Amino acid sequence: MPINHIFRKSIDQLKSSQTNYFLKYESILKWHKENTNLYNKSINNYSCSIHEPKLPCFCEKRKVDCLFIDIYKELSKLIEKENIFKKTVLEFNSLKNDTTKILNWKNENKRINFNTYINEKGLIIRLNASKKNDTYLEFIMRIKKEELIFHKQLNEIFQTI
Ligand SMILES: [Zn+2]
Repeated sequence: MPINHIFRKSIDQLKSSQTNYFLKYESILKWHKENTNLYNKSINNYSCSIHEPKLPCFCEKRKVDCLFIDIYKELSKLIEKENIFKKTVLEFNSLKNDTTKILNWKNENKRINFNTYINEKGLIIRLNASKKNDTYLEFIMRIKKEELIFHKQLNEIFQTI
């Protein structure tokens, strides 16, 4: 299979796992895991990687491999964040009702900013396209707020302490 078809297939897979335009966190984790090999194989050799792999795609005509890499990176960030929230929630739960410890925990974690990360409508990650009307050049990922359970739990903890 030509390499571009592999990227298209992979993006289509993620797309088809959407329900009413929203992605389930579970599907994100599954897709991310299944595509780690493809990402690792491609990260040093995709359409715009010669410029600077750490930057987002600057290709004049966005390529399907660039889009794949960007989607994977965005989902990695999301998963990483949710894992940090999970760790922080578990830390809090282990404090029981020790007021001093809770105060310290609160201080240590006060920099967590929820508002810039997610709003009432959920999380929308829009990967811009350079050319319209090609479904492979743009991808919008929508995740409902309640899907990110540790984000939600941590937010609730902050509101009650
Ligand atoms: Zn590119």
